[in-house]
Amino acid sequence: PARTRFAPSPTGYLHLGSLRTALFNYLLAKRTGGQFLLRIEDTDRKRTVPGAEERIIKDLRWAGLDWDEGPDSGGPYGPYRQSERSSIYKSHAETLVRTSHAYRCFCSPERLKAVAEINLKIGLHTQYDRTCYHIPLEESDDRASQGQEFIVRLKDPERQPFFKDLVQGQIRDGKVKTALQKANDSFDDPVLLKTDGLPTYHLANVVDDHLMNITHVIRGAEWIVSTRKHLIMYDAFGWTPPIFGHVGLLLDKAGSKLSKREKAFDLTEMQEDGVLPEALNNFLVLLGWEYKQQKSDFATMATLKEQFDLRLTKGNPTVSLEKLWYLSPKHAQLRVLDGGAAFEGMVDLVVAAVHKFVKVSHTSATLPIVTEAPEVLREYVSRAVQSDSKNYITALHFVENHPYYFLNDPPYKPIDDGREGRETKGKLKIHELWSDAQIRSQLLEEISLIRDDWTYDSLNGAIVRAIAHFYCQPHGIEAVTEEDFRIMMKNRVWRTLRGYITWGFHGPSLVESMLLLGPEIVLDRIENLDV
Ligand code: GLU
Repeated sequence: PARTRFAPSPTGYLHLGSLRTALFNYLLAKRTGGQFLLRIEDTDRKRTVPGAEERIIKDLRWAGLDWDEGPDSGGPYGPYRQSERSSIYKSHAETLVRTSHAYRCFCSPERLKAVAEINLKIGLHTQYDRTCYHIPLEESDDRASQGQEFIVRLKDPERQPFFKDLVQGQIRDGKVKTALQKANDSFDDPVLLKTDGLPTYHLANVVDDHLMNITHVIRGAEWIVSTRKHLIMYDAFGWTPPIFGHVGLLLDKAGSKLSKREKAFDLTEMQEDGVLPEALNNFLVLLGWEYKQQKSDFATMATLKEQFDLRLTKGNPTVSLEKLWYLSPKHAQLRVLDGGAAFEGMVDLVVAAVHKFVKVSHTSATLPIVTEAPEVLREYVSRAVQSDSKNYITALHFVENHPYYFLNDPPYKPIDDGREGRETKGKLKIHELWSDAQIRSQLLEEISLIRDDWTYDSLNGAIVRAIAHFYCQPHGIEAVTEEDFRIMMKNRVWRTLRGYITWGFHGPSLVESMLLLGPEIVLDRIENLDV
């Protein structure tokens, strides 16, 4: 069983990349029957963003990535917030000083700055000149006990470790060259403990991964450089390192790193629009992992927990949201099938989207149902979602693409929020159809007759009779055969009616839409809708 962790620094919120990393770790733990830990790496107090930790926790919960051990839930290896573990890191730094793998550095910040500047001028890449490297341990102890300020630095060994990465393969010279190159340039006795006694990321990360018995570390490729430093420490402590897998970075279609400012990729934005978390997980897991078992790529969390494996692919995946929009309706349909809380949750999202939609679309008045009592609207929305879950992409998209369920008049301009892969489908190509007064009055007549018997069958019957009026009588056809009916279904009367009722938007079966809208609205639309 694997013990994995997600170790965010609360210096910002979750984004698609970090959520994917968390997901990989989560799934590996679940598939192997192990544990998934949440550890908050908040040792960089200056960069900590107030509220970020709470937000990260909330977002992970939203995504359904529950942890077995973490800052809130506790566990046998806690605390799980690094700011509460300072003494542990301090004593471990002390150990490395004792064993000569690290040393105290008493240089003042001013001196360090000056050294770095000089080195830069003469073209040396190292930032430190190792002045304190040579201080004998006894003297170092004395100065420390006299209260002199110091930091602890790791001794950069002669031989640099290379390692086998689960994803990238062998990491050594020649491979991942730029990363190594960079590492060589900047690797000079990295700081483990700062003057305030708090650890740096490197020390805290290694100590915790070891003490918390982490077996696998899956993280972004930007950490490869750090991993070498970490391996030196594992070696110094005499510990076995975990297995590392560094996954590629997410790129946009232009080939650049996903921008945090890009609204479409923003997690908060997605949540607000009503993206289903299981659809997002399904989408994210495919970025760097090949789902061999299923060609359609559709996978529920339950299946992923059974089938996820470590065949992670090298390279930086391109994020294209079309795949998410393709997977979403499949997850939506499953929610309808499953019913219960999953379905109710989706209805909540759509109700929220209705309110948002009517607020932002000043195109036309809303139907009375929108301002009805919350339970009445909820029931209506629930039926609307059931009628067309196969077209659910996000809650907001659903509402935008079924405006006839919520508005009085067609929004003449289909609403396009400019989001990638999410053009509103409705096209109002119905002008010429609406001019047929004959069709209109015939439909009105037949449908009025059944207004008190508003059922699927009677509505269907009324429409067939209206069609028959135009098609059978002129041709002297008496009975309508099934074949006739099929032809009629595609005919102009039918399309005209769809024009009145759903304004040319694609959606569920027309009769189903009419059932939901009720006789008043339907008859009013046939009678009065005009362009
Ligand atoms: N705290 C680091 C981060 O914010 C953790 C990196 C790692 O997984 O080791 O990403």
